[in-house]
Amino acid sequence: MSLPTIDDLEVSGKRVLVRCDFNVPLREGRITDDLRIRSAVPTLQALLERGARVIACSHLGRPKGGVKDELRLAPVGERLTELLGRAVKVASDVVGDGAHGAVDSGAEVVLLENLRFEPGEEANDPSFAESLAALADAYVDDAFGAAHRAHASIVGVAELLPSAAGLLLAEEVAKLGRLLADPEPPYVAVLGGAKVSDKLDVIGNLLDRVDAFCIGGAMAFTLLVARGEEVGKSLVERDRVDDVRAMLGRAENKGVEVLLPADVVAADAPEEGAAHDTVVLGDIGDRLGVDIGPATARAFGETIESARTVLWNGPMGIFEIDDYAAGTRAVADAIARATKNGAYTVAGGGDSAAALKQLGMEDAVSHLSTGGGASLEFLEGKQLPGIAVLERTGG
Ligand code: ADP
Ligand code: MG
Repeated sequence: MSLPTIDDLEVSGKRVLVRCDFNVPLREGRITDDLRIRSAVPTLQALLERGARVIACSHLGRPKGGVKDELRLAPVGERLTELLGRAVKVASDVVGDGAHGAVDSGAEVVLLENLRFEPGEEANDPSFAESLAALADAYVDDAFGAAHRAHASIVGVAELLPSAAGLLLAEEVAKLGRLLADPEPPYVAVLGGAKVSDKLDVIGNLLDRVDAFCIGGAMAFTLLVARGEEVGKSLVERDRVDDVRAMLGRAENKGVEVLLPADVVAADAPEEGAAHDTVVLGDIGDRLGVDIGPATARAFGETIESARTVLWNGPMGIFEIDDYAAGTRAVADAIARATKNGAYTVAGGGDSAAALKQLGMEDAVSHLSTGGGASLEFLEGKQLPGIAVLERTGG
């Protein structure tokens, strides 16, 4: 089954509902990172150039089915107006008189109000999906970051209108897909972040594909415990140790190397300003690991630089605190060198993307996925509802 694209859709003179992922971070009503808005622009421009009238829609935050003034999409509308160089008419509601008025006004680009102001959105309520569909003649899904959600604006509406994937969604599927189908070896997966339980399914799906894992972050400590190591007060998910041990056994049987930290930055507390030192693992005492150490960073770096395919998900330490960001920086540097040497490199995950941005290294990878949870579920090998529905009904 293949994904229908906007080339497969009749859009000239039509009203096209475009599901975007404008779920951007806001601070005091201002957008602090507009990557997701910028990422939607190519699809919106392509549709406008083909003579479509665009009705963009998105969720923002978690208003839980009611109107929250601080989660209105007005700031997104302003930024989108700048990026498109065209006026964007922001509707005062999602599917009510405000939305119909905005669409009927003949505006080239309408932005509906926050989808999650409507309880029917997350419930994938059929009558809410019908109300959305009634606004448009065709539907384009470009919200890769929400493709793992079976919500009305993603699944319900796609079943009611001629549908296709936008450029961003299609690009994500193609570029993440390369990590699962026929990746060029050596293939290294660099994993980190908070919880091993979040990533066990990804590890499981990659076990048949990768040559090596480099695992840092808090999740590494559960693996180290499974290997019988001392980890002091580091974060460990005790209830996952057995699962992890089984996974390590499978890796060994398959000849997949699993590199874990041999040295760490050990701190008194996971906080800025806490006393901390670099130690070999055995000397962690009653401190906790907050970053991989320099010897580990070197070993990971060598493995990464010898790879032809690299997936990175999850920071190596508490990178939000400068003193604990060196391991994440070293891995990002190694990935940048691999990219320069022609390796295919992909970073996915909200915090990994944030780390690259914090380092000013968004260009260090061949592809920086805009999806957090969605990219993880994709890499787990799951059928994402937003993709499956287009394959099933699209065109
Ligand atoms: P991603 O969003 O890239 O998938 P995660 O959400 O899994 O990543 O994890 C990111 C979080 O993990 C960050 O907030 C980071 O501070 C935290 N983290 C990484 N290493 C450690 C550690 N050693 N101890 C505690 N927290 C850690
Ligand atoms: Mg995260």
